[in-house]
Amino acid sequence: MAEVLVLVDHLNGELKKTTFEALTAARELGEPSAVVVGTPGTAGKFKEALASYGAAKVYVAESEDAGNYLVTPKVDALAAVAGSASPAAVVVSASAEGKEVAGRLAARLGGTLLYDAVGVNSDGSIEQSIFGGAYSVKSKAAKGLPVISVRPGAVEAVEAEGAAAEETVELPATDPAKSAKITGVEPVVGGDRPELTEASIVVSGGRGVGSAEKFEVVEKLADSLGAAVGASRAAVDSGYYPAQFQVGQTGKTVSPQLYVALGISGAIQHRAGMQTSKTIVAVNKDPEAPIFEIADFGVVGDLFNVAPQLTDEVAKRK
Ligand code: FAD
Repeated sequence: MAEVLVLVDHLNGELKKTTFEALTAARELGEPSAVVVGTPGTAGKFKEALASYGAAKVYVAESEDAGNYLVTPKVDALAAVAGSASPAAVVVSASAEGKEVAGRLAARLGGTLLYDAVGVNSDGSIEQSIFGGAYSVKSKAAKGLPVISVRPGAVEAVEAEGAAAEETVELPATDPAKSAKITGVEPVVGGDRPELTEASIVVSGGRGVGSAEKFEVVEKLADSLGAAVGASRAAVDSGYYPAQFQVGQTGKTVSPQLYVALGISGAIQHRAGMQTSKTIVAVNKDPEAPIFEIADFGVVGDLFNVAPQLTDEVAKRK
């Protein structure tokens, strides 16, 4: 069976859910091999979990440098393995870093970048949701190695048996002049909540929330559901919520099981970042708001009346 390389996403010694999604997507194309890039001792902890999602092999690319730089060590490792293993494809998560890794790798290897897949098919084609979700497109690489980035949350991770046999990869020393060095890591606001692009539930607030203080109503509902908090660009631009939580064309793309939009009109640029959510719930006082066109459940009403009731109801059922 053809070998498919999967870049392993991990943070603080934990595997990210996106790794399992990428392994699941890769299984459509062949036999996945996981590529772990990290500081010495990283891969050993992940082996079993990677095998349980079908990784037949684990390429271990470890060095002290790998923890100090963004992007470059990952591209180097994938390029090295791709050179020796001749895989059928490379799959990475379409996170901010993953997108850059995929782009650089495709350029370096003269491959084809297939980006932001919401589905991967066994014929090598991918499904994409474009123009704010207005069109679904099927794309396939016409030449070179396909480098596929998979939208976080779009593919449901499913377990499968694997073997995770280890193979060591020599990483070249990173050239500091050509790489972005990590100078410090600080916890973000809302650090106890799930990461926005990985959360299975996202509760977002828009301009309708009215102020930074009132965003508490969004946060309370999110916390009752164990959700991440998102925001529209209008809410961010108005200073209601920090920019790293913006969902949309110029923000983050999310694809959770449940997306709750509070006081968000549903402009195409917002939809671009959330339209592939599995279930969309919208609360808006304007019955004509475009968000209702894509909502599975809609409540026409004042969010300050509806959201607290939802929060109470969720709390009661816990
Ligand atoms: P509004 O459009 O002002 O809508 C507020 C909504 O709240 C209204 O529908 C109103 O009926 C409702 N409301 C008000 N009060 C209440 C209440 N008490 N209870 C219930 N409902 C209430 N936008 C993004 O979100 N993400 C992006 O990444 C993004 N990128 C962009 C990129 C470009 C190049 C451009 C041009 C625009 C981009 N935008 C983006 C902006 C986008 O076009 C919209 O302006 C923005 O999404 C609107 O945000 P909103 O829905 O919060 O605000």
